[in-house]
Amino acid sequence: MAGAGALVRTAEAAQGTSAQVGDHAKLALVAQYTDNPVIITDREGRIEWVNQAFTRLTEYRLEEVIGKRPGSILQGPGTDLRVVREIGENLRAGRGFRRQIVNYSKSGRQYVLELDVQPVQGADGSIESFIAIERDVTESGEVLKLALESARQGVWHWNAGNDKVVLSSHFLPLFGYDLQTATAIEPTLVSITHPDDRHALERWYEQLKEGRLDEGEIEYRIATASGEWHWILSRGRVVVDSRARDTRRLIGIHNDITQRKTAEDQIRRMAYFDTLTGLPNRTLLIDRLSQSLSLARRNHTQLGVLFLDLDNFKNVNDGLGHETGDRLLVNVASRVTGALRAESVVARLGGDEFVVLLPDLREAEEAAVTARRILEVLIESAGAEFAVTASIGIALFPNDGDDPLTLIKNADTAMYAAKDSGRNGFRFFTHSMNDSVMGTLKLETRLRQAIREGTFYLLYQPKVEARTGNIVGMEALIRWNDPELGIVPPNEFVPVAERHGLIRALGDWVLNAACKQNVAWQRAGLPPLPVAVNVSALDFDDPELPARIRRALQETGLEARYLEIELTESALMKDAERTTALLHEIKALGVSIAIDDFGTGYSSLAYLGTFPIDRLKIDRSFVRDLPSVNSAAEITRAIIGIAKRLSLSVVAEGVETQDHAKFLQDEQCDDLQGYLFSRPLPATDFEAMLRGGSVHPT
Ligand code: C2E
Ligand code: MG
Ligand code: MG
Repeated sequence: MAGAGALVRTAEAAQGTSAQVGDHAKLALVAQYTDNPVIITDREGRIEWVNQAFTRLTEYRLEEVIGKRPGSILQGPGTDLRVVREIGENLRAGRGFRRQIVNYSKSGRQYVLELDVQPVQGADGSIESFIAIERDVTESGEVLKLALESARQGVWHWNAGNDKVVLSSHFLPLFGYDLQTATAIEPTLVSITHPDDRHALERWYEQLKEGRLDEGEIEYRIATASGEWHWILSRGRVVVDSRARDTRRLIGIHNDITQRKTAEDQIRRMAYFDTLTGLPNRTLLIDRLSQSLSLARRNHTQLGVLFLDLDNFKNVNDGLGHETGDRLLVNVASRVTGALRAESVVARLGGDEFVVLLPDLREAEEAAVTARRILEVLIESAGAEFAVTASIGIALFPNDGDDPLTLIKNADTAMYAAKDSGRNGFRFFTHSMNDSVMGTLKLETRLRQAIREGTFYLLYQPKVEARTGNIVGMEALIRWNDPELGIVPPNEFVPVAERHGLIRALGDWVLNAACKQNVAWQRAGLPPLPVAVNVSALDFDDPELPARIRRALQETGLEARYLEIELTESALMKDAERTTALLHEIKALGVSIAIDDFGTGYSSLAYLGTFPIDRLKIDRSFVRDLPSVNSAAEITRAIIGIAKRLSLSVVAEGVETQDHAKFLQDEQCDDLQGYLFSRPLPATDFEAMLRGGSVHPT
């Protein structure tokens, strides 16, 4: 190539005139009229010539810049000094180079240039000058920024050396933040990140920074200025910095993926939920069932699967149309859901088939009770637009299967059995389960009826004074003679009453009947004797208990001193503070209190001393083994000792033999109760005994 000096001269000539032109001149013309700014400098980098494009871009005319270094007039605050240094090094070494640099026009407008600088050698091979051809790439930066903005993306750049993070300034304003607020938010966005995601985000940045991760991505939620949550996907990677190898630099993008997330959510809803009722579908049911199964396996608990199919749904659909059918299904879905505890899952398999998952069953009976409740809520809406019945099949884990599909299939089979036996009912998959659970449920049904009709009665067992053998009191013991079931012992039906919320009605009945009988005996002129009534532990949980006792006394006219309440040890020790308060309330009525079955629970002796009680009843299990079994004898002695120490009276129950009685008498037990003196007797027999026997009133 020709010497640059000649080129400059020819170019100078071309600037004003259309002189005669040779090859050089042609080149110069090109340089003059090209759209790209061109600078020709001398070997030292001082400007010798610039073209018109240069003047257009920088607003400097040739005569203003001649002899100056481009850097001194074109650089400004945004110019990267490292690039400037590099350019200098290249020029000194006589090397060509290509760099991007931020420059400023005469009036201060910032633009980005791509600089292509080539040295020009003279005839002797030494560097004579440099030609710089520039390309204004400000525009393409703008385009990139626009593209990022419209994609709702931001670029961040992290220098781990000085821990500085820079985030492209347009990003936060996309979420409604004004510039001032945006600058207060750190570029990692941690402070506006959802609390649930924050820890993960911080860890992610840490891993990138510390070099445990070279690239990665993470999704998290950030708050917009108006407080909505947007999903952000951040990708980051380490950029190797050739100049400073020890300094890690990271570059990454933030990407607003809210729309994608919303779409995914919708898809997930469609994949897992029934669109008509909003209930979980089969897929989600199986998923939940698997989870519940692993939990049940771990905790060794049972789990119930109820398969529900509406009776005659086809008639509704065919007769009243599909829209009505749909409304019915939605209605059923909400009624069934409303009848269940929160941890149960109701799913719709399709058509009129629903499945209810009962995790964590204590006993099979609970599944039956739930099935019955569902059938009740379906029927209850008789008179409403839809009264429906259904048939329900029940399968239990682990009895009837230990995987979701088997359990659902077996519940389905049981459902058909329910249909076969007349619809509007439920059946267990295992036949024996039907028998035993149905037995309990039958008991419960009969019990409800007995409570309504009052077909219970009380037996009375006397308590005698150990020293004299005189009758000093009695215990009322409930009996139930059901026309269908025969005589059911209290140990069988009291727990059923407790489980099914019937105990309060039962307790009230006993209290009233016992008080009434006692008043009747006193009015008949029999010597007044106190009656002891057993109160269930559940009754004792009822803060209304004192009021209920008072009401029984008022209604029957019994003086409080003739009533004693028997409470078991375990009922008292559940919550000692509450117990103390409740006992005081009962005592304040004038009623006395005994602890029944003493020695079988776990009494805290510390509390025992503070409870306002009157009597301990030594449990039958100790009395039975008297006097030969050493431990029984020792325990009995100890209980009597405690009672004396606490100034309580003590009575032994289950006294069957003379040996029992002798031992207890010798140990100074106050009173005795048991078959040795009398079995529990019907009121008339007890009355006859009172009239005949020698009775010393208290
Ligand atoms: P409990 O209060 O400890 O009643 C004593 C039980 O021992 C009674 O059984 C009684 O018949 C029985 N018994 C009495 N003497 C002897 C004896 O010498 N030998 C033997 N082997 N047994 C004797 P029962 O009537 O079957 O009552 C059982 C339990 O049922 C009672 O134990 C009590 O906890 C509960 N219970 C009875 N009636 C009522 C009631 O009206 N309400 C409540 N909540 N529970 C009641
Ligand atoms: Mg008792
Ligand atoms: Mg007892």
